[in-house]
Amino acid sequence: MSKIKTIGVVTSGGDAPGMNAAVRAVVRAGIHYGFSILGVRKGYEGLLRGDIVEMSLRSVGDIIHRGGTSLQTARSAEFATAEGVKKAISIAKVFGMDALIVIGGDGSFRGLLDLSKYGLATMGIPGTIDNDIACTEYTIGFDTALNTVQDAIDKIRDTAYSHDRCSVLEVMGRKAGYIALNVGISGGAEAVILPEKEFDIDKDIIKPIMEGRNRGKKHYLVVIAEGVGGAGEVAQYIEEKTDIKSRATILGHIQRGGSPTVYDRVMASRMGAYAVKLLHEGVTNRIIALQKGALVNFDVQEALAMKKTIDKDMIELSKILAM
Ligand code: ATP
Repeated sequence: MSKIKTIGVVTSGGDAPGMNAAVRAVVRAGIHYGFSILGVRKGYEGLLRGDIVEMSLRSVGDIIHRGGTSLQTARSAEFATAEGVKKAISIAKVFGMDALIVIGGDGSFRGLLDLSKYGLATMGIPGTIDNDIACTEYTIGFDTALNTVQDAIDKIRDTAYSHDRCSVLEVMGRKAGYIALNVGISGGAEAVILPEKEFDIDKDIIKPIMEGRNRGKKHYLVVIAEGVGGAGEVAQYIEEKTDIKSRATILGHIQRGGSPTVYDRVMASRMGAYAVKLLHEGVTNRIIALQKGALVNFDVQEALAMKKTIDKDMIELSKILAM
């Protein structure tokens, strides 16, 4: 069993809807197991500054339905240095922190690995709208972001229909195309352009639009992942080649906000409580992951070495259904 008495919890990297639900689960499950819980504000930056508060059952009341992160988040260049990690360890000691649970992405988990080398017990919970963490099929915030994008697509479709237009929508995802691929299918896009797959603008965008027009289509949707970019240029090219009026929309940070979906709240609650349960059992330095519907955990180093692949059948499906 565990010698850990005090657990810190921090949200790091980009914010994602559901992070609050995960913090709430860590605090409440932690207190249930008899741990003291410290909230680290503003990511690793807050750890370096000792911006740390004692958490109680009540301090996580009224946050499960909120987007963003009530602990706030930050990116810290200082923490990513050898000196920064040593400083963070000394601050953790001052506060009596035996373990740290971080809710964030790969960059945050690299930081965890550095901290674990100095004996701090660590746990990582995948939290990013991009779903780009290799060891897990799901990251907290992904479902909410998909629903936000889908809502935007439905609105854009109304205006594209009214004007017989082509809409070119650029969605987030950093270097990964999971958001683009999923909303491409759920939004019925004529073309989906992903960073994981090389594309030819004439073959992959112009051709399906022209074929669709020949079959009687009058409005069109092209989804482009942030990792490819260039929605404005693509819209211009479509207009030049086809004479179809085209408009680009870059959705931006609206995709990161909003009240988390039920799926994100439940997944975040499960992952948060599972991370604490593992620490209670004396298991440390793991990343929580979802595999085939079940929660599992991987060694941090092993998790960071994994490579994520995009589902080729989903890409094929998006093409078949775009006819
Ligand atoms: P997201 O996917 O939302 O961007 P992330 O956790 O990958 O989340 P990053 O900005 O990459 O976001 O990382 C968050 C913080 O983790 C950084 O500001 C930095 O302090 C720390 N970090 C990132 N990379 C490393 C690294 N290689 N070694 C140590 N610490 C790191």
